[in-house]
Amino acid sequence: MTLTQRCILQNWPAPATDVFPRVVYEESMKLPNAIKATGNDIKDVKAVVFGHLHLDHAGGLEHFLGTDVPIYVHEEEFKHACWAVATKADLGVYLAHYLDLEKLNWQTFTEPHFDLYQGITLHHSPGHTPGLCVMQVNLENDGTFIFTTDQYHIAENYELSHPHGWLARDHTAWIRSHNMIKQLHRMFKATIVYGHDKEVADRLMSAKKVYD
Ligand SMILES: [Zn+2]
Repeated sequence: MTLTQRCILQNWPAPATDVFPRVVYEESMKLPNAIKATGNDIKDVKAVVFGHLHLDHAGGLEHFLGTDVPIYVHEEEFKHACWAVATKADLGVYLAHYLDLEKLNWQTFTEPHFDLYQGITLHHSPGHTPGLCVMQVNLENDGTFIFTTDQYHIAENYELSHPHGWLARDHTAWIRSHNMIKQLHRMFKATIVYGHDKEVADRLMSAKKVYD
């Protein structure tokens, strides 16, 4: 049994797969193959950035065990995930084996607005989790994109200013983060990409092969 298979069995028990159903999972969707399809190799990856550490957003890290590739996440998110797993307070939504402190090159930051590279900024947006960050990417020709991870599961969460059901842990923080993101949206005329909105993702992917 591979590490990935073991992780799925241990960390994606029946209740989790009910909440996050995956109808088709093909070879082409595995991280090394998905990266290969872009003309790159997983060995070319210079850094990994996590918007938050819930299990459905933290897959694929097993490929970076034992490497020095930096894994970026907000300090609040990292601390919360360690606490939630260690005390079993919120165990079911995190991947405990990713908190293997010695085999991954975790890098945390505390800034509310963290410029990771030129044109890539992470904005701390607590609410869904304490350390969630949305990622702003400024492209030369296609303008600004904001990848919101689970701050917004689908477009309606943004448009109706309403978090997704029981999934927001802190409503007041969510509203403050929402106001910050609305301001970014206005200032940069940004395209917003939501955490679980397949319609929006399909539309963007079919409109252009490459955004630059
Ligand atoms: Zn989440």
